[in-house]
Amino acid sequence: MRNAAGFRRSLLQWYARHKRDLPWRRNSDPYPVWISEIMLQQTRVNAVIPYYERFLNRFPSVEALACASEQDLLAAWAGLGYYSRARNLQAAAKLIHERGRFPNEYEQIRELPGIGDYTAAAVSSISFGRPRAALDGNVMRVLSRLLAETGDIGSPVTRVRLQAAADELLDRKRPGEFNQAMMELGATVCLPQQPQCLLCPVTEHCEARRSGRQREFPIKRKRASPNVVAKELLVVNKRCGILFWQRPADSRRLAGFWELPEPSQLPGARVEKTIGQFRHTIVNTTYCFQVLEGSIQTVPDGFSYLTKKSLDEVPLSTTAKKALACLQNRRLMPGHG
Ligand code: SF4
Repeated sequence: MRNAAGFRRSLLQWYARHKRDLPWRRNSDPYPVWISEIMLQQTRVNAVIPYYERFLNRFPSVEALACASEQDLLAAWAGLGYYSRARNLQAAAKLIHERGRFPNEYEQIRELPGIGDYTAAAVSSISFGRPRAALDGNVMRVLSRLLAETGDIGSPVTRVRLQAAADELLDRKRPGEFNQAMMELGATVCLPQQPQCLLCPVTEHCEARRSGRQREFPIKRKRASPNVVAKELLVVNKRCGILFWQRPADSRRLAGFWELPEPSQLPGARVEKTIGQFRHTIVNTTYCFQVLEGSIQTVPDGFSYLTKKSLDEVPLSTTAKKALACLQNRRLMPGHG
């Protein structure tokens, strides 16, 4: 961005005037900031406020949270969902309590249970003034529009690029305010479907707006949905062994590997029962295998029985191994011979 200093100034002035009065913004102690950031991860601001207030009343300090019974903790969290967040909060509170103080560096905060890059950046910048840009979904969207980012927003490469851009834009003297201002801009002005560009404090710095393409960003490429293919394998299991065929040496895939037959390879085979199923994915195709058990009258050319002992000594394809595991599991189940 050409005028990063002007951008920071406009953003921070707007934030000072227009920020919402949220309970966790009333002081910058790490404990309440951390609790609010975890609660906000999968829940909207308005829904979080009553939970946040009740939680802080019930557990007003790291120590109170560390010493809470699991029942009390889960009762205070009930309704927010994703209970692993509450358990991680308590695990982290125990560590902080043991160590005697809240860590004040990004890396130390990042190591606590349940804390990812975003939360560590938010807490370390808001509570300790550490210069780390916090990149959540809102901020990624704002940046992708400001910079007219043409990479897929879902790709890790784009994320790395946006993180670098955010770190460069960050106001290093007021990183906590800056991070909160970016989040606020995304939550109240640069909205996903309807960016409010006429009300935006940084409109003159926005590449997408300049070219009238603000609705085109962020760019989300459609993921190729995997093809799903149904297949069947037939286990012909006799005293002398299990029926297999071997891929020829010039086979394009798995040359020389042994495979179980598909029923279509054994005309006249009698299918007796289904003994299991499994999925197997190759590149973009997921194969859903039904494993059947059956019998044949005569062994066709190219097929042979492999003894159970020799199965450990020959190369078996993964699908054959998965099918044999179905056979094995069925035998281990009560009521099966
Ligand atoms: Fe978002 Fe519009 Fe502001 Fe650009 S000008 S940051 S698109 S609200």
